[in-house]
Amino acid sequence: MIVDSHCHFHLLDRPESADTALAEARDAGVDYFLNVAVGVEEHDRLVAFSERHDRVFTSAGVHPCGSGEDPSAEALAALARHPRVVAIGETGLDYGAGPDADYGWQQARFRRHIEAARQAGLPIIVHSRLAPADTVRILEEEDAGAVGGVIHCFVEDTDTAQRLLDLGFYLSLSGILTFRNATALRETAAGLPLERLLVETDCPYLAPVPHRGQENRPGWVREVVECLASLQGRAPDEVAEHTARNFFACFPRAAAAID
Ligand SMILES: [Zn+2]
Ligand SMILES: [Zn+2]
Repeated sequence: MIVDSHCHFHLLDRPESADTALAEARDAGVDYFLNVAVGVEEHDRLVAFSERHDRVFTSAGVHPCGSGEDPSAEALAALARHPRVVAIGETGLDYGAGPDADYGWQQARFRRHIEAARQAGLPIIVHSRLAPADTVRILEEEDAGAVGGVIHCFVEDTDTAQRLLDLGFYLSLSGILTFRNATALRETAAGLPLERLLVETDCPYLAPVPHRGQENRPGWVREVVECLASLQGRAPDEVAEHTARNFFACFPRAAAAID
């Protein structure tokens, strides 16, 4: 079994692409998907897609770079009551606008999402880009280990990985693992505990080698599985099975839905 723990069907180029990409991924042997929210305006569309496809779960949240509606913790928790919503997010910090930008509002929004997760009784999906120290600090300050969740597109070093694992978080590896210049990440990933790892595409972004430059598809999560397997000296099936099991351990509402 293979699970794409983080993708955005609704951000694919053409409106009909979501159904096509899902069918292709199923043909490629990918069984379950977490179709992650980046804003609340799209909530109804995401929920409807998940209601139509019982192997696609969704979330409720606003991406750290999102410029749309900025709901309260209570409003997010209310959206998360829907049974197809298995997590709060994606939330977190993205310091891609440079060192001098004001990220105070992102930090406040991140804390609000952690509070929403506490109220909803759901884990969080954390996006952390160029902000490892503040991500770990806020997760610790907000006692986010109590809600748990995943750090998606994990790219940090072993020390940061250990602090996140100590907090109880899962780490999700993406197609970045296959990039030519990702030598340091591959060295880190080789030593990460398989029982705490997930795999993802972050489709339509971050297409893995050998598909670089194209719009990413959830079916290509297999490239991530195979890369991780070779780094850890394991069979791809073993990595697929473990990361699928970890996904359902990380997102209990998804596990309950397939029982
Ligand atoms: Zn992200
Ligand atoms: Zn994403």
